[in-house]
Amino acid sequence: KRLRSIPTTTLDGTLIELHANIELPQDIEQVRESGATGIGLFRSEFLFLNRDDLPSENEQFEAYSIVAQSMRGLPVTIRTFDLGADKNLKNSYRSTINPALGLRAIRLSLVEQVMFLTQLRAILRASAHGQIRILIPMLSSDYEINQTLHLIDHAKKSLQDEKKPFDENIKIGGMIEIPAAALCLEMFMRKLDFLSIGTNDLIQYTLAIDRADDTVAHLYDPLHPSILWLLARVIYTASRANMPVSICGEIAGDIQYTRLLLGLGLQQFSMYPAQILTVKHEILKSHLPSIMPLIQKILRTDESEKIHALLAKLNN
Ligand code: PEP
Ligand code: MG
Repeated sequence: KRLRSIPTTTLDGTLIELHANIELPQDIEQVRESGATGIGLFRSEFLFLNRDDLPSENEQFEAYSIVAQSMRGLPVTIRTFDLGADKNLKNSYRSTINPALGLRAIRLSLVEQVMFLTQLRAILRASAHGQIRILIPMLSSDYEINQTLHLIDHAKKSLQDEKKPFDENIKIGGMIEIPAAALCLEMFMRKLDFLSIGTNDLIQYTLAIDRADDTVAHLYDPLHPSILWLLARVIYTASRANMPVSICGEIAGDIQYTRLLLGLGLQQFSMYPAQILTVKHEILKSHLPSIMPLIQKILRTDESEKIHALLAKLNN
């Protein structure tokens, strides 16, 4: 109980934000018990799964408003539907040749614009009831960002015409989960308000390992030097420009990686509510200046075995 209510700071006094990942409004109870200081990832596509129809604007508005209200002014980051690949709508067309590389997430949203605008209007309307932020999944190019921002403006305009209230300054963020996004980060930073690194997909796409295929699961390696290099670059570049950046992939909730991520400069983590107190405990015991030499060594190493040995030392 004590752990839940104290701020998350390292031994040297760096304040860290621990946010929660949720799938449905009913997860809120657990979030409140975890002491999370916000929702870093609301996987809104779960409102669309396991049903024959699509959720209406009002149904979505209700769901987003409940979450926003129960977080009482803390940030609630709603990711627009990340459908396709492993999360398909019933009865919809799907990319079957190579679904993870196909029409999923924002790519699907930009094709299914009525469905996307319905969701955007619902999120915007809910933003009158709490601190909501919009997060866009799977962005890879400026074309997609421009199109998305254009549709958000369109949704805002339609609500203004109907005199429906919403947060005019709502923050728009992008997921960094395709290597192209990590490599063109400066462009993302110019166009967006915040970033969230989706390491689950970033690892899948960087290493060309299907995250849903057990036959290659042994090759799915968050410590691959290419991943560490991308994470270091994104966190450093964003932080230097005062651009909020978090990680919402699985590694954020795994204490094996907590010190490593702190050492890379990460100050915002988002994870399942059940993982928050364990990660918090680890952060409270960590002293950043003392771990930095090992972090530098890890970043200079490009051999897997050595990286694993250094990580073990770091966590000792
Ligand atoms: C990710 O890719 O890391 C992520 C958080 O999104 P999802 O796991 O829902 O694809
Ligand atoms: Mg993802």
